[in-house]
Amino acid sequence: MRIAIYSNLGEASNIVATSLKKKIEASKALKIDGLNPEIVISVGGDGTLLSAFHHYQDISGKIRLVGIHTGHLGFYTDWRDYEVSELVESLEHDNGQSVTYPLLDIKVNYAGGGPADIGLALNESTLKQINGSMVADVYIKNQLFESFRGDGLCVSTPSGSTAYNKSVGGAIINPSLNAIQVSEISSINNRVFRTLGSPLIIAPDEWVKIIPKNNNRTVLTCDHQVISTATIASVEYRISQRRIAFAQYRHTQFWRRVSNSFIGEVNLDD
Ligand code: NAP
Repeated sequence: MRIAIYSNLGEASNIVATSLKKKIEASKALKIDGLNPEIVISVGGDGTLLSAFHHYQDISGKIRLVGIHTGHLGFYTDWRDYEVSELVESLEHDNGQSVTYPLLDIKVNYAGGGPADIGLALNESTLKQINGSMVADVYIKNQLFESFRGDGLCVSTPSGSTAYNKSVGGAIINPSLNAIQVSEISSINNRVFRTLGSPLIIAPDEWVKIIPKNNNRTVLTCDHQVISTATIASVEYRISQRRIAFAQYRHTQFWRRVSNSFIGEVNLDD
């Protein structure tokens, strides 16, 4: 089986990546292939896994990801830095087991025409303004839903719902649900300006279109990257037909993953 190792530049990750590479090279069943892998192993944290996903985005339908975390939060990562041998053993006995999660399609139309930009997010995309309030019309399935005024809007996937979305008060969604979520970033709500004020969960047959008004100051992000600071006419979001696949050699129940990451180990004897 062909394996790529995608590591961050930290010392701890480097040690793990080197040891992993040696073990893979020593295995008869596995080989390193950074160009055409079947499995991509990310070594670092969620930030590294996001970068790995975007690096291999063009072949994302043909790969499965595995995450080893080296001292980060590691919400997406199933393996610890001291479990390299167990992981290699699991890779040698791989029988294609996987779990897939929804992704977010982003279509950006620029003012002045030209071809639309198409993007794919694993966590979320935000449309926001750091200089003055963002004013934008929000459409759901081509129907005007509200006029937003505030810092911005965050549209997230279920697996990204524990990231930025959580910080801005969005709900956490189990990634077995095929949905996307729109959450507000510091909306202005008073007698003059009004938004719904709560997160929205969007169904698979729906889409969201955001039309910024003072659009020359709007910034569009996709996961850890700024996609565009160019003048945006509209952004359309919908659940992608594509999904991300993780090689699932061990199963951590989603809500246990959430409680481990955000609450910590619970001692039932206390
Ligand atoms: P970063 O600022 O270095 O890290 C952001 C934190 O979010 C890290 O602790 C990261 O985990 C964690 N994280 C990433 N994806 C997650 C997920 N799906 N569930 C739970 N936690 C998650 O930024 P980065 O490493 O470049 O990552 C970009 C992501 O950061 C964005 O997609 C966005 O979701 C998040 N972000 C959050 C805020 C906020 O909460 N206010 C603001 C900006 C961006 P690791 O430590 O394992 O890397």
